[in-house]
Amino acid sequence: MDSQKVIIGISTNYLIESAGPELGQERIYVNSSYIDVILRAGGIPLMLPFVEEESVARAQMSLIDGLLLSGGIDVNPLVYGEEPHPQLGPIYPKRDTHELHLVKIAQETNKPILGICRGLQLLNAAFGGTLYQDIPHMTNTDIQHAQKVQKHISTHTVDLKPGTILQQIFGSTSLLTNSLHHQAIKQLASVFTVNAQTKDGLIEGIENQANPFILAVQWHPEMMVAYEPQMQKLFDYFVKVVAQHKQGGS
Ligand code: MN
Repeated sequence: MDSQKVIIGISTNYLIESAGPELGQERIYVNSSYIDVILRAGGIPLMLPFVEEESVARAQMSLIDGLLLSGGIDVNPLVYGEEPHPQLGPIYPKRDTHELHLVKIAQETNKPILGICRGLQLLNAAFGGTLYQDIPHMTNTDIQHAQKVQKHISTHTVDLKPGTILQQIFGSTSLLTNSLHHQAIKQLASVFTVNAQTKDGLIEGIENQANPFILAVQWHPEMMVAYEPQMQKLFDYFVKVVAQHKQGGS
């Protein structure tokens, strides 16, 4: 293996088989598109199965150079001090616990973080922000954020804020993206700057340019890459930042 390559830890998802010969089997997994985009960026992907013990999360973090928080089901609203709204989707508190540990340890050990969809929401909650538990019931937007077409298809416009890292990555002030979420940031955690918004004002991206670097988007660029190659730029940039942090001896 190329010793210069960096290892990107990817947080994992949970599934119970609902039919077939494996009925009831519990699985921990990631969608393979996350593996593909990290490989294409020159990184080494490593899945991080979720466990509740902080000591295990710390051992996992010692193996990686950067953290990718993947998409998935809703964050437990108790994490950000709210009771469950009737429209809250499924939650899995064990995964929340694990990812909160990973974020805390990444900060302590100066390792960059990239958040995708739920990853953005988890980061906002981890740093003291809150979420709309269900966009249609808690906002008055007239934009559809839970699209009903194939996941790779772009359905809404995202405006990128000039001067942000995200805007520099894409070299544009506007993108068309997919949208696969029914929750969104309500109160932004104070450490973050908004770098992307839809026309209804909902937040579609956040960043913290401080050390260690954090960037997150609400859409799923990894699902779009095969059809919109420029979405790979986000992962290329992240792996580059992780390599710079590693070389910095931190
Ligand atoms: Mn959206």
